[in-house]
Amino acid sequence: MTYMTMKNKKLTTASGRPYFENEDSMTVGPRGPILLQDYYLHEKLAHFNRERIPERVVHAKGTGAYGNFKVTRDITKYTRAKLFSKVGNSCRILVRFSTVGGEKGSADTERDPRGFAVKFYTEDGNWDLVGNNTPVFFIKDPKKFPDFIHTQKRDPKTNLKSATMMWDFWSLNPESLHQVMILFSDRGTPDGYRFMNGYGSHSFSMINKKDQRVWVKFHFKTRQGIKTLTGPQAEELKGKDPDYAQRDLVEAIEKGDFPKWTLKIQVMTEEQAKKFKWNPFDITKVWPHKEFPLIEAGVMELNEIPANYYADVEQAAFAPAHTVDGIGLSPDKLLQGRILAYPDAHRYRLGANYQQLPVNRPIVPVHHHQRDGSMSVDGNSGASQNYYPNSFDGIEADKSYKEPSMKLDSNIADSFNRNEKDNDHFTQPGMLFRKVMTDKEKQNTINNFVCALKGVNGSKKKEILMRQLNHFYKADKELALKIAKGLGIKFKV
Ligand code: NDP
Repeated sequence: MTYMTMKNKKLTTASGRPYFENEDSMTVGPRGPILLQDYYLHEKLAHFNRERIPERVVHAKGTGAYGNFKVTRDITKYTRAKLFSKVGNSCRILVRFSTVGGEKGSADTERDPRGFAVKFYTEDGNWDLVGNNTPVFFIKDPKKFPDFIHTQKRDPKTNLKSATMMWDFWSLNPESLHQVMILFSDRGTPDGYRFMNGYGSHSFSMINKKDQRVWVKFHFKTRQGIKTLTGPQAEELKGKDPDYAQRDLVEAIEKGDFPKWTLKIQVMTEEQAKKFKWNPFDITKVWPHKEFPLIEAGVMELNEIPANYYADVEQAAFAPAHTVDGIGLSPDKLLQGRILAYPDAHRYRLGANYQQLPVNRPIVPVHHHQRDGSMSVDGNSGASQNYYPNSFDGIEADKSYKEPSMKLDSNIADSFNRNEKDNDHFTQPGMLFRKVMTDKEKQNTINNFVCALKGVNGSKKKEILMRQLNHFYKADKELALKIAKGLGIKFKV
């Protein structure tokens, strides 16, 4: 009989000693002081003091669910990943949804991108697709990330969120405009996590059996349909039900209404990449669907809320560095930065052996010479060798897994750096406003901008507003003029 299934379970200390009392502390006589020898009391209080690990610096508030992913279309001409080797293949997945800027207890309906992280437990090891509900991001260079995030957190003096900080940064970084447009559209406040799309956001690569590489973008299209909240609805819910999105997901899954997303990919050949009018590895840009149509690859369903939130969601560690053979990286600068930053964050938050925790452990055996470190819980590879090369363990690097070299000679890399289109931060946000948004969405977006920009204060207020209006103007005249009107500003270019 296991510990969990025993009928008459005896209370024990964590070291297993049955204990006789769980409410009254051991005292000198009925009213006397507490005795140091009440070990159970110390253990209980001391462990309680240590219940919290550092919350994630970003994406602290989140919820997760298990499910499965099934391959529905043959994409073997692009990838040799075993998962995609046959239509019908499937694997278990874990998904974590989150907001970005708020603390662990913040409200789910904040205007903020939503994290959309998927861990595929494949027979090739874990593949993590760690994206957002938006296809682009605010910055394209990881060097800017800490600065950007500071503006989304709290003012160093007042400890309050500050519209001035946010708009100061965005207005000084016009590359943010595309993401800012999406954020202030209705999609900036999704109606829970089930009714939004997910995007791998970066450009990735796929490599097939012939060792040929294509560049790829990943899209998870919600099968529930898109549902969003208006700004005022989202504001109201922050007070009424701060855990709105978590509740919606848990309740849907608990009653058997399992949400599903279709995984689609966009494919760009290396030749097309050279001719693409923007840098294909710039995360502030999308690849237009007309030129790079969506290709279906599979379906994911979420059908199980983990039995223990802390074990499987708080301790879940997703990292863009976790790829599998046949799915690779790209020169996207922000992706390159995240390859370093995510595992580093997990080592800090969870410990050097974070990949041994059950939720993070791959379903395949691992063979390497890493040893020791805090919380080594998988036997630490027993008596086997902890050095390489050695004459005993037979662990050898298999050259067949080598990816073809990326053709990033000076012609490509330098021309991207020098290409004037790299500073075109306006065409795509303009297309979004003019071509994609309905009149109602346009009006809501304008209202949301006006409401947020009214929060800018202080001696630099005029400078910040004018700078931002200029960016709007370059994207779309109507947008800029209507926002200026809403702010009561006479705007001249
Ligand atoms: P299409 O006209 O082919 O498709 C528009 C896309 O925009 C759809 O994917 C739609 O998602 C999505 N969308 C609609 N409203 C919003 C919104 N408020 N915020 C974010 N996405 C939205 O687009 P193109 O490929 O020609 O690109 C035009 C613009 O659409 C881009 O500049 C970009 O801003 C936006 N977009 C493009 C994407 C891409 O990968 N090409 C992806 C997402 C947005 P759905 O189909 O689920 O309704």
